Parts: sequence; structure tokens; C-alpha cells
Amino acid sequence: MIGSLVIVGTGPGKADLMTPATKAAIAQATDLVGYGPYLARVPVIQGQCRHASDNRLELDRARHALALAAAGRKVAVVSGGDPGVFAMAAAVFEAVEAGDPVWHALDIRVEPGVTAMLAAAAEVGAPLGSDFCAISLSDNLKSWSTIERRLKAAAEADFVIALYNPASKARPRQLGEAFALLRTVKRGETPVLFVRAAGTAEARVIATTLGGADAAHADMRTLVIVGASTTRQVGRWIYTPRGARP
Ligand code: SAH
Repeated sequence: MIGSLVIVGTGPGKADLMTPATKAAIAQATDLVGYGPYLARVPVIQGQCRHASDNRLELDRARHALALAAAGRKVAVVSGGDPGVFAMAAAVFEAVEAGDPVWHALDIRVEPGVTAMLAAAAEVGAPLGSDFCAISLSDNLKSWSTIERRLKAAAEADFVIALYNPASKARPRQLGEAFALLRTVKRGETPVLFVRAAGTAEARVIATTLGGADAAHADMRTLVIVGASTTRQVGRWIYTPRGARP
């Protein structure tokens, strides 16, 4: 019997930001595959097998999940946030592309989730109200020169920029370099938001400007939003108007 594989995201952290469809998909699975801390967000169901792994081994984890599904198991691969945003869904399809042709016949589907960028924006108001883009600052899987080129293009096009993976212990310098590059294009007064643990009870926001932004405020659980030229403050909220109203 051929099994199935669903790739889900737990949302940013708070249990009620996990969608009901995701909860149902997890409840129906015989096997859960994922990075340990994400699996820890999922309630334990008796009889279900959990395969926790290291965060870096995305492709190995994807192949393992596909092999389980091919053996007839009902597998849920668990990511944080949305599974398609800098997460496991793309790794699964990459593994399918390079892997056993039998995997093409598997019932594979993706459940959408609340990505960090949306939870972070909601903590501060509506900074993503106009055109925006998302860039991961991790250069584990792409070159730093590619990231620089995208940052510059996004700044020149006046997008609001959501920065995922702004910093980690192994990558302490990227965010400072990104700010320096953005300062060559965007004004120093451009709003910059550091949102840590968005969509959780511990959410913390630091609102500053590009001129004053200190990269040391970011860690692995921080999403950084750099405004567009129109992004502004009203009361205690930050927002980007949808356009110029007549
Ligand atoms: N698939 C995830 C993103 C994985 S990349 C999603 O859709 O959210 C991991 C990065 O996401 C982190 O380094 C951080 O920049 C961001 N992130 C994830 N959860 C977050 C949260 N609750 N608050 C702020 N940033 C978060």
C-alpha cells in the first residue's frame, strides 16, 4: 500500500495560530517528521511515531519522510510558520525531483500556515500594507553576493523588506552588512522593526530607524522588517499606506 505525505507548518508559536486543517492533518498522521523544537509544539498522540532531527539536515529529513510514505505510512512533515516559506516543503519537492521515481506517485500535499512575517507585521500594525518582499539572510544555501544583489534591488524598487534568518550564532555579521547596504539606498529615517517571538506570548518589538538600527537586537527568533519610503508611524502603530490616496 502506498502512503501519503503532508507538509504542515505550526505557525509562529501560539497554539491558536496553528490552522485547524494543520491540526487535523497532524492528528491523522501515523508518523511525524521534523526538527525537534517544531515537533515539541505538536500535542502528543498515542501510537504516533515521532522522528525528530537536526535543523540543518533538511534533505535527509525529506528523503526519510518520503521513504516512510512509500512504505505505506501516513506522514506529516512539520515545519514552523508556513511550510513553504524557507522551510520543508521545497526540500521535499527537491528530494522528489532527485529521488526514487516511485515517489512521484505518492499523495503529497502542502497545508498553508501563518508565516513569521505576517505574525510580526500584526504585532506592530500593518507595515506590509503595500508591496513587500521576503529575503532570507542565511547564506547556507545561497551565496552572500546573491543576497546583496537582491537586497539592493529590493531597496531600489522601494519594497518593504521582511528579513528572515537575520542572525544566528554561526552567522553574526550578515544583518549589519545588510543594514549598511540598505543605507546606501534607503533614507536613514526609514522605519526598522525587530520583532522577536511574534505571535507568541513572549513577543517583543523594537521599533527604530535604518540609521539607528543595531544588528545586535536580532537573533534566530527575530524577524526584521525594513520599511518603504511611505512606511510611517501613527500613534503606537507602524503602517505602510496601500497607495497615495487622492
Ligand atoms: N517557515 C518559517 C520560516 C523559517 S526560517 C515561517 O514561515 O515562519 C526561520 C526564521 O523565521 C527565523 O530565523 C526568524 O527570522 C523567523 N521566525 C520564525 N518564527 C518566528 C517568530 N515567531 N517570530 C519572529 N520571527 C520568526
